Amino acid sequence: MSDSPPDSEKSRLDFIREIVDADLKSGKHATIVTRFPPEPNGYLHIGHAKSICLNFGIAREFGGRCHLRFDDTNPSKEEQEYVDSIQEDIRWLGFDWGENRFFASDYFDQLYEWAVFLIKEGKAYVDDQTAEEIRQTRGTLTEPGTPSPHRDRSVEENLALFERMRAGEFADGERVLRARIDMAHANVNLRDPVLYRILRAHHHRTGDKWLLYPMYDFAHGQSDAIEGITHSICTLEFENHRPLYDWFIENLPVPARPRQIEFSRLNLNFTVMSKRKLLQLVKDGHVSGWDDPRMPTISGLRRRGYPAEAIRNFCGTIGVTKFNSTNDVALLENAVRDVLNRASARRMAVLDPLKVVVTNYPEDQIEEMEVANNPNDETAGARSVPFCRELYIEREDFLEDPPKGFFRLFPGGEVRFRSAYFIRCDEAVRDDAGEIVELRCTYDPETRGGQNPPDGRKVKGTIHWVSARHAIDAETRLYDRLFSVEDPDGGEGDFLDHLNPESLLVRRGCKLEPSLAESKAGEPIQFERLGYFCVDARDSTPETPVFNRTVGLRDSWAKQKTGK
Ligand code: ATP
Ligand code: MG
Repeated sequence: MSDSPPDSEKSRLDFIREIVDADLKSGKHATIVTRFPPEPNGYLHIGHAKSICLNFGIAREFGGRCHLRFDDTNPSKEEQEYVDSIQEDIRWLGFDWGENRFFASDYFDQLYEWAVFLIKEGKAYVDDQTAEEIRQTRGTLTEPGTPSPHRDRSVEENLALFERMRAGEFADGERVLRARIDMAHANVNLRDPVLYRILRAHHHRTGDKWLLYPMYDFAHGQSDAIEGITHSICTLEFENHRPLYDWFIENLPVPARPRQIEFSRLNLNFTVMSKRKLLQLVKDGHVSGWDDPRMPTISGLRRRGYPAEAIRNFCGTIGVTKFNSTNDVALLENAVRDVLNRASARRMAVLDPLKVVVTNYPEDQIEEMEVANNPNDETAGARSVPFCRELYIEREDFLEDPPKGFFRLFPGGEVRFRSAYFIRCDEAVRDDAGEIVELRCTYDPETRGGQNPPDGRKVKGTIHWVSARHAIDAETRLYDRLFSVEDPDGGEGDFLDHLNPESLLVRRGCKLEPSLAESKAGEPIQFERLGYFCVDARDSTPETPVFNRTVGLRDSWAKQKTGK
């Protein structure tokens, strides 16, 4: 990957970059500091990539820095496995937090002190009501909430109770600490929000030290302030939490005043993006794991062969706005094709082999045919591919009874075998069951390299082939969309009802040209006429290579959508 971001990723001044730019020019900030704050309760998905490209991208473009902060305030669902995968995925996407890796749990002591500070200021109190009672007394959008009977406890009583909460004297859920703001506030989030809850859960970093944990709203902005974040960029659903974010910053002795800015999250059609649902797909075995190549996770897309550059380009193309919308997944697939078309070497592979015997070709002869690695790029050079008497072609490239306009092989018909020879089909051989098992063909020696013969004869079709004597056997996995409807989350029923039963097609006994034995995971390859492929990083072995189809050469769904 190159050091500088591609054009599409460079500072197109969206509304957030405009704010950042203005804050630098006015001298409000000398250095821009952003953060990416994942909760380590799942693997990152393509939606997170949008946030990563935005936060790390702004830091890079404006000479600032971006922190990676694990928002680990909810101990019950968090795991080290997720921390590790998140780091790997961000690095793979091409971004680096340097020394700036933090955990919200590192601030638990400071947050506790600030909670005590609020109590002392008369701005927080311990409430004995149950979660249900608190919910029911919050009021509605049109009606004010009802103050808790414990709202006016003395500072001393609150301090003592809060200390006892910490010491483990109460059961989970028996008491909470609430901010004392305004039970009649027009914004429900400011009606005495809960700051701390009692929860006996082992934390992946602080172990069993804490029996009470801060709520997200109380932890997030203060973590930003501790780290000196200048622009705290989050998704739109936090817009009406901003007044609370600001209230904490104004009412606590924090060392900095970060500004929260919201943007619209990425939604993709044919995709679910919520971590809860992705976890369900994994746990219930609908996919093989978080990195199943059909998953919209970064690890799944990587395993499938999506280049990081294509994901960054896609995030640059969709832009940053304040309006929620759904992007077409075809846009992402096109970004992938754009990069792969440039980056991948062409190779020949036959997924559904049909044997061809060239009857007039000498039995023991082998010729090395020179085949261009990329017809659009001469600098990519050429390779030699062995040609002999027995070959494989794609079964669908032959039809015994072809319709008009079929330019591939049929009895009596002639095609060009790519970079090899003109070949005519003389006869189709059947087995006892009547299935075609072999084609008997003849070649024209005057067409070597696939050149037109001196008699000026032309053929319309060119097909790919593999030498039967030299081919490597492989498995290929052809993917389709995991869901068969545009909006799996919308409409009737459960999202699982819309799983596409044909999202994975496994083909064994595929025949590949010998040079593909050298392929490594992550290396993009175009199987001519079939799509872009890569070695499967998890399951491929030298004995049985496994190739994933990253994406087809064209958008096959576009045709279907506009009607056949
Ligand atoms: P989910 O709803 O899928 O569980 P989340 O928002 O709870 O996601 P976090 O780990 O908290 O997941 O997300 C980390 C960061 O990524 C947050 O700043 C969040 O705003 C951002 N983010 C998550 N999903 C998207 C998305 N679809 N588009 C853009 N940003 C996203
Ligand atoms: Mg979240």
